[in-house]
Amino acid sequence: MRAWQVVTPGPMGTGPLRAVELPLPEPGPGQVRLRVDACGVCRTDLHLAEGDLVPRRPHTVPGHEVVGRVDAIGPEVGAPGVRLGDRLGVAWLASTDGTCIYCARGAENLCPASTYTGWDVDGGYAEYVCVRADYAYRLPAGYSDAELAPLLCAGIVGYRALRRAKLPPGGRLGIYGFGASAHLAAQVAITQGARVHVLTRSARAQALALELGAASVNGAYDAPPEPLDAAVLFAPVGDLVPVALAALDRGGTLSVAGIHLSDIPPLVYADHLFQERDLRSTTANIRSDGVEFLAIAAEHRLAVTVSPYPLAAADRALADLAADRVTGAAVLLP
Ligand SMILES: [Zn+2]
Ligand SMILES: [Zn+2]
Repeated sequence: MRAWQVVTPGPMGTGPLRAVELPLPEPGPGQVRLRVDACGVCRTDLHLAEGDLVPRRPHTVPGHEVVGRVDAIGPEVGAPGVRLGDRLGVAWLASTDGTCIYCARGAENLCPASTYTGWDVDGGYAEYVCVRADYAYRLPAGYSDAELAPLLCAGIVGYRALRRAKLPPGGRLGIYGFGASAHLAAQVAITQGARVHVLTRSARAQALALELGAASVNGAYDAPPEPLDAAVLFAPVGDLVPVALAALDRGGTLSVAGIHLSDIPPLVYADHLFQERDLRSTTANIRSDGVEFLAIAAEHRLAVTVSPYPLAAADRALADLAADRVTGAAVLLP
């Protein structure tokens, strides 16, 4: 099968990825093999290609927003039964031990033994991928394969970050940064009755936010038009942490969505945290976040903007992402 591997991590201009021909992978115990129909290109893939995310093993196939159809079923795939031809989604969390104290209390996203698709195990920049059936997701109808792909990381992790922001029903939400993840989380919040204020410098992103139903748009460092009950920081910019904390009303929560964040400048307790304002991070997701988010996507048709690329152009898709040339989410189509 055709696939891409991260061979020599480094800047995209140095060609860190290589197109290769690999043997068809065979599903092991508990696994199914998917014929890949679409794979989203996430910024984490770029971090892996460029070496910001240290490879866990050599020559990994990236890609953790995979939509495919089951074409082989390994031994010991338990109930509920997976059938040949089922359309399934694969996300970042590939497996956990299921036995540690974090897994036992329902925080499998914190499991120290967790593995990740396209980092510890081969991902979806390929024609086929083998995944654990119990970590794959059933997907909602009414979306194309390409539209479903970005829901699997941008969508699910954005949803968890939104949940971590503890937005009260009908509350006032600030969204800092407005990329693939933020534009999905904003739509979820709006369907749940929130008043959403988007804070981003990009005029194009501001226009999209208004189209999707945002109550206001402003620059990232501007004050929103009203105090916020909750905010989610999607931009990986630590300078915005005190800005967003200062925009919260008493008792408000700021949830940081990303894996990477530049340094946070010093906080002033009275201005940024007192009056029970909370600052929280988000780490990947648990499977129930994915199930909940995909159920919301089934009930409310979310608008998903995709830029399709052929699988053969995965390196170009990543270079375009690095240069901010992608509109919506880049998706590879084998
Ligand atoms: Zn665990
Ligand atoms: Zn991702």
